Amino acid sequence: MKLHYLIYFTLAHLLQIYAHIEYPLLLMISFDGFRHDYIEMAKRAGKHLPNFDRIISEGVKADYMKDAMITKTFPNHYSIVTGMYEESHGVVHNAMYDPVYGQSVELWTPEGHTEKWWNGTTDRKTGPEPIWMTNELAPEESFTRRSGVYFWPGSDVPHYGQYPHHWKPYNKSTPLHTRIDSMVEWFSSEEKPINLGLLYYEEPDRTGHHHGPDSPEILDVIVELDNALGYLFNKLDEHPGNGHHRLGDRVNLIVTSDHGMAGVSEERVITLSKHINTTQFGMFGSSPVFNVEPLPGKEDLVYEILSNISHLHVYHKEDIPDDFHYKNNRRILKILIVAEEGWSIVKDATENMTLYGNHGYNNSLDSMHSIFLARGPAFRSGFRSPPLSIVDIYSLICDILYMVPHHNDGKLERIQHILATHLFEHFKLNVTVFTYIIAFSLCALVAGVLSCRACCCQQKRGYRKSTLHIEMNGVHGIRTGATSHLLQSDSSEEDEIP
Ligand code: AMP
Ligand code: ZN
Ligand code: ZN
Repeated sequence: MKLHYLIYFTLAHLLQIYAHIEYPLLLMISFDGFRHDYIEMAKRAGKHLPNFDRIISEGVKADYMKDAMITKTFPNHYSIVTGMYEESHGVVHNAMYDPVYGQSVELWTPEGHTEKWWNGTTDRKTGPEPIWMTNELAPEESFTRRSGVYFWPGSDVPHYGQYPHHWKPYNKSTPLHTRIDSMVEWFSSEEKPINLGLLYYEEPDRTGHHHGPDSPEILDVIVELDNALGYLFNKLDEHPGNGHHRLGDRVNLIVTSDHGMAGVSEERVITLSKHINTTQFGMFGSSPVFNVEPLPGKEDLVYEILSNISHLHVYHKEDIPDDFHYKNNRRILKILIVAEEGWSIVKDATENMTLYGNHGYNNSLDSMHSIFLARGPAFRSGFRSPPLSIVDIYSLICDILYMVPHHNDGKLERIQHILATHLFEHFKLNVTVFTYIIAFSLCALVAGVLSCRACCCQQKRGYRKSTLHIEMNGVHGIRTGATSHLLQSDSSEEDEIP
């Protein structure tokens, strides 16, 4: 598979160099908790969203993006940038327990910013490699690759000892406009421009939790985000961007998110201590989804009691549905519990549930699906795509930026239909067929050269034979190929003379 990509990317690079095409730029923004239907919701409520409209009319809008199970912030952001399901990259929840370390962690704490939690369950070859690393590790040909990452979960943690070229220690109070200003500066730097930018912002997740997904406050936040996109477009348009075109025309923009949001209420709370002695197990995660590890000898009892609680889905690790892709990792513990949509889980009644919205539910639920928009020279224009999968975004970015993807769970074939001038899309080919055509053409070329050579040798042999024959008959001084032909036929005629 990698050979296919190598051939394709080498050709793309050569084309780019010889045709003097400017190298591709990509900016991906995640608006945390942006549910797939928020834009339509806001418009139905009479809100004006010119900048979202612009992306949709000039670019691509997917019906929705299906996020990975479980639908929480850290795991899904990591799936976007690694192309891996949670069981593969090992960030299986915002808070988790590792039986090999004998330790639990909350990823937003200083301990959560240590490398071992981000690539600790796999080896370098099969383990996660965030796109900002893939970009900087890719061979440089016509341009220097640099990544600039503003607060994307995982970017403030070293990976194999490295950070992206630009990154910031997380500070949730940094205004979105400040983040945008830095991002545009990084792209437009004359000395060291970035070619890949990733930007994270906490809204509309924060408002969704505090006011609920159907609140008027959410609508106001969507308008604020639209204004911020307008601000970004204006800033990009101000810059020539080290090339012939303005940054606004050059940058490929993806706007996406990590999960949706469902309404919750104080009336729909599962209090575990009402049903079971909660000292018999450890539970790691946050409502509405937890990994549960019963004490030794209590496995059957704990499973049995939990599975009889209403509005709670309970799975033995080995029975977790395959389409969750959430099983094969040591941090996924013996039992997984997930509340029914709209329900919350607390250990005991002292925990108060003051939220009006939450996520973490089954990733097949409509309310858990998130937004995917894209606009720029790499994307089709005014195109509505069927649903996309979160693990395919990594392959998509690799393709746009001419990079060989690291090991991952995604498939370019499932997402390449949103690309505009994609060579394969253009000729209705896929990577494999394209490679066979190249291989076949190369073989044909080699075969052609070899047959020509063989032909020439044949002629030379004929020439020598004739010359020898003529010399034997006392004729000398004949050197040209054309004459050699004549001599050949002459000599064959002579052969017929007894
Ligand atoms: P949740 O809604 O529980 O899945 O988590 C969302 C919260 O994660 C946001 O409100 C952020 O404050 C927090 N968060 C996002 N990125 C980071 C980060 N890099 N470091 C620490 N906390 C973060
Ligand atoms: Zn989130
Ligand atoms: Zn959240």
